Amino acid sequence: MDELDGAGRWYEVFADFARRYGVDKTMELMAPEFPPSALETLKQRWVAGGEDPKLRLEDVLAARLRISRDLFLDVFGAGWAKQEQQNRHWPFQPDQQPWYVAGTPAQLMLQIDDGIATVARPVGRWQGVAELVYEPTGSVVLAGDPEADRKVIAGLLAARRSSFRYCPLCREQTPPELRDGGLECMSCGERWRGILH
Ligand SMILES: [Zn+2]
Repeated sequence: MDELDGAGRWYEVFADFARRYGVDKTMELMAPEFPPSALETLKQRWVAGGEDPKLRLEDVLAARLRISRDLFLDVFGAGWAKQEQQNRHWPFQPDQQPWYVAGTPAQLMLQIDDGIATVARPVGRWQGVAELVYEPTGSVVLAGDPEADRKVIAGLLAARRSSFRYCPLCREQTPPELRDGGLECMSCGERWRGILH
């Protein structure tokens, strides 16, 4: 592989990650998403070959918190995705770090700024044409002590999960933003009740 091929392949790895996680493709804009340690991990996997060079978002978030992936998983769990819609809809400072959302239905939000984690309870809100965004509510800046942080997160999860109800028709766990006021979910409202959303 000559140098040009190497650079092209390297760019493909970035581009693929950017596509999957919605981060900007230029190195400058990616900088906060890709701290040097995460970049190094990605590069090492790529150079080693054989192994899937794709970096998981959890690896990036752990690197930004300067903790191991195992500790990240212990405290914050997995299934994280970047919330993309936020800067188009609610008051958003250009220098604000992005929010990430985890869980189906959404159960926890995370923001990382200079190695400090802030967590919040997601509250779903419909905006524009059928676009669901999650607003971080009751946010808490974590101390970085795993034991204490887990308790804070457990409290947020309990509060959020207490708003879920089983839809009596499809029996799916349904958060308030996906119900039509009552217990039935919006999908069932469309399918069985002729409700247009
Ligand atoms: Zn349903």
